[in-house]
Amino acid sequence: MSENSPANPVTPKPCPKCGNPAEVVKAGSRRFWVQCSRYAGQGTCSAIGSQADNRKEAIFNWNKIS
Ligand SMILES: [Zn+2]
Repeated sequence: MSENSPANPVTPKPCPKCGNPAEVVKAGSRRFWVQCSRYAGQGTCSAIGSQADNRKEAIFNWNKIS
């Protein structure tokens, strides 16, 4: 499922607000975003990235807010 290659590392940074790991969320076939692993439901953090239509761009959106 994941297509991380050494030449193209796409890993979300830790949450800029609380420092917990971030996670990539996939909804449907072309909706991705990254949110804090302590995001509402699992905790109290409100950090969430913009939606994108692929995993790489979703991670990019997340990384630029940190
Ligand atoms: Zn957080």
